[in-house]
Amino acid sequence: MKPTQLGSFSDRIARHVRAIPRSGIRDFFDIVSTMHDVISLGIGEPDFDTPEHIREATCQALRDGVTHYTSNMGLLELRQALSSYVQKTYGVTYGPEREILITVGVSEALDLALRALINPGDEVLYHEPCYVSYAADVIFAHGVPIAVETRAEDGFRLTRKMLEERVTPRTKLLLLNFPNNPTGATLAREDVAEIAAFAREHDLIVITDEIYAELSYDAPHSSIAAEPGMRERTLFLHGFSKAWAMTGYRMGYACGPEELIEAMMKVHQYTMLCASSFVQHAAIEALRQPEEDIGIMRREYERRRNFIVDAFREIGLPCARPRGAFYAFPRIAGFGLSSTDFAFKLLEEEKVAAVPGTAFGACGEGFLRCAYATSLDNLREAMARLGRFVGRLKRES
Ligand code: PLP
Repeated sequence: MKPTQLGSFSDRIARHVRAIPRSGIRDFFDIVSTMHDVISLGIGEPDFDTPEHIREATCQALRDGVTHYTSNMGLLELRQALSSYVQKTYGVTYGPEREILITVGVSEALDLALRALINPGDEVLYHEPCYVSYAADVIFAHGVPIAVETRAEDGFRLTRKMLEERVTPRTKLLLLNFPNNPTGATLAREDVAEIAAFAREHDLIVITDEIYAELSYDAPHSSIAAEPGMRERTLFLHGFSKAWAMTGYRMGYACGPEELIEAMMKVHQYTMLCASSFVQHAAIEALRQPEEDIGIMRREYERRRNFIVDAFREIGLPCARPRGAFYAFPRIAGFGLSSTDFAFKLLEEEKVAAVPGTAFGACGEGFLRCAYATSLDNLREAMARLGRFVGRLKRES
């Protein structure tokens, strides 16, 4: 029999998947990985080792033969530990039996939530600049992403007024991320209350990605889930990647109303089954002394934050003060270069890698994301190189 001709394979890829470009970050770092002596301020990944006792617990779990499936919801012992942790840290109580789902990172939790909630055409409000996955994840779930621009002049603050301008009768969800990747912005308590009132009045469900919550420097983090009347309409997403330096473990969780967690569990059950069993044991260990583990890293990030913001300003690059996470988002406009050209030229001429702001939404044009998840020595050298580079650009322009 004659083999069937497939023709161009790309025609067969689903239209909505085809329409989404690859993440700009990946292409950029494929190039970086082929170069030597590059100082990378690029990847959003802690430079700290995962705390030793957590790694040891992982090895012990493997030695004990913990290598099989767990319940789809995740180990009950872990859900119980998370219930106490979230209650103590954020002041919201979730039942470990039915209101907490263990996932493969916040990434999976977000995907499950969007797939569980979105009917084709539902609109999802989110703020830009934002984490690279949000708009794509909404489209994969057949929703319509609606970006709300935040601005450097306001410290990338998100206000109720900005949301009111973009809400429509089709809006179903509001997706929040504070402390924010890529700007480091946090939400002031009053803004949290106002945004909560907005969600209640428009009857929206809020998905809040609080993966950087422990890395808040200037004020304690307050979760929208803890606002009056919000627990029943909020899905709280969190994980171990950032604050515990456990990116490779792929460990996250979702806390929310029972019916929503049940719907997410259904998608998770048929697609992922469960998060890795020995990784769940490591997460139980990570919750034994979180403040000791995280405190050391947070203090160091804060020192670096203070250094890098001052350095940008000395170089002449305006930079809103990041109040959380480990990113700064300086303005690099005014030299006749797009963000992408600036990033590539900086890489080529001074071997400093940072991500063009446009990777985080169109309004990121004119900015560069610099992660300070690298040593102070590296940051000093990177800032010296950047200063030289900007000095040349100023002379040329
Ligand atoms: N959410 C935000 C805002 C992030 O910055 C990242 C990673 O950079 C993620 C989610 C992914 O988290 P995880 O490693 O838990 O999948």
